[in-house]
Amino acid sequence: MSVLSVQDLVLHRDFAAAFPELSMPWTAETAPDPALLVLNEPLAAELGLDPAALRTPDGVRLLIGNTVPPGATPVAQAYAGHQFGGYSPRLGDGRALLLGEITAVDGTRRDLHLKGSGRTPFSRGGDGRAVVGPMLREYVVSEAMHALGIPTTRSLAVVATGRAVQREEVLPGAVLTRVASSHLRVGSFQYARGTGDVALLRRLADAAIRRHHPAAADADNPYLALFEAVRDVQASLIARWMLVGFVHGVMNTDNMTLSGETIDYGPCAFLDAFDPTASFSSIDTGGRYAYRNQPVIAEWNLARFAESLLPLIDDDADAAVERAVASLGVFRERYSVAWSAGVRAKLGLAGALPEGATAPVVDELFRSLEQSRVDHTRFFRRLSGAVRGDAEPVRELFVDLAGFDAWLERWRALNPDPELMDRTNPAYIPRNHLVEEALDAATGGDLGPLGPLLDAVTRPFDERPGLERYAAPAPAEFSAGFRTFCGT
Ligand code: AMP
Ligand code: MG
Repeated sequence: MSVLSVQDLVLHRDFAAAFPELSMPWTAETAPDPALLVLNEPLAAELGLDPAALRTPDGVRLLIGNTVPPGATPVAQAYAGHQFGGYSPRLGDGRALLLGEITAVDGTRRDLHLKGSGRTPFSRGGDGRAVVGPMLREYVVSEAMHALGIPTTRSLAVVATGRAVQREEVLPGAVLTRVASSHLRVGSFQYARGTGDVALLRRLADAAIRRHHPAAADADNPYLALFEAVRDVQASLIARWMLVGFVHGVMNTDNMTLSGETIDYGPCAFLDAFDPTASFSSIDTGGRYAYRNQPVIAEWNLARFAESLLPLIDDDADAAVERAVASLGVFRERYSVAWSAGVRAKLGLAGALPEGATAPVVDELFRSLEQSRVDHTRFFRRLSGAVRGDAEPVRELFVDLAGFDAWLERWRALNPDPELMDRTNPAYIPRNHLVEEALDAATGGDLGPLGPLLDAVTRPFDERPGLERYAAPAPAEFSAGFRTFCGT
């Protein structure tokens, strides 16, 4: 089924209708000269949208909310959030809009959302706009994450607006069309709690249960069960980030979803040389959101989520706190189980071996990766070769060869499965220097480098001749000074 005209597209107004308290009806700013930079055809097909129709002038206007299907009500959503630990009671969509919900071909509801669509009542000092580089960064990285099997919001399109946007320099404006299983965040619950309206908080929790964690409805305490379901999807998500070397960069509570999808790709980046303290964001000066801190920060954010749910968890405030604390206490174990299972798969050690046999091998490996500053992705991808009889490519990554050889011997004695490793360890991730190269070119009007980059990272496990440079680490001069910016 394909949608051929804007008139045919059905956009529901589930959120806008159910939560007027959290919805500001609003209209996207009109783009002077919209031009489609990239369209995600497979995602369009999942949504039942015809890519050819989306490429027409009418379709492009639809993608940026300049034409709205009849019956739809685009809204700016209200939410609160802790940003770098400090609480803002009223953040909200200052440069974004929820166009509405779409029923995908598989029957699930997805949010159709815009980023960079102009000022809203939540904009404070901001201009509500976004520029080409950061919107393409979100497109590339979110689609790479999806291809890596990591839960994430998706990117349907990036459209250049034709407007010059004032930043440190003047840059071309753009709008990202984002698709998500919802935009409910920890910050949405903090906001609802802050209104003091417990009935609103309950309705919001009920909506989250229905949409994301329906099994919680049958629990003795559905709201505690909701908390635990979110705890578990987040434990699993953060473990996936750690295993692939992803640094989100801005894990504020407004950037943590109830669905367990990764959201808001701002100053994110992937590890190259393995370094637990890696932190790329120019605004994260204290390293709060550094690579190794991500599990603890997720736990901290979940504590804020639990606080916002307290009135629903138990009428007795002390009892509510006690139950929430006990549930939160399980996060570390959930995370550690998910991470251990993941690292064993990366090392080709599925199932059979007891944890005690692999833990020392794993610990020693990470110590030597750090010591030799080995490229995280390249190491795991090359390691399977050592089972197949060619250890040289992975050996050459180490400085302390005698140490690594001893490790190899112990690991090989565990009988690793190289096929499992090749299905688990990507050859291609969106490497920071290649992403920057593609974004810089696109900002200057050249979309040339974007296509091959997307091609590599959206089939990350399928190593192909001709794509060698997409598997190679950045030159050391690049990595040394690499910083990401929370581009708006
Ligand atoms: P984010 O960095 O996308 O998580 O956004 C944090 C908050 O800042 C949200 O409330 C955004 O809507 C707001 N914000 C970010 N950039 C802009 C902008 N250019 N104009 C207005 N609000 C913005
Ligand atoms: Mg955000």
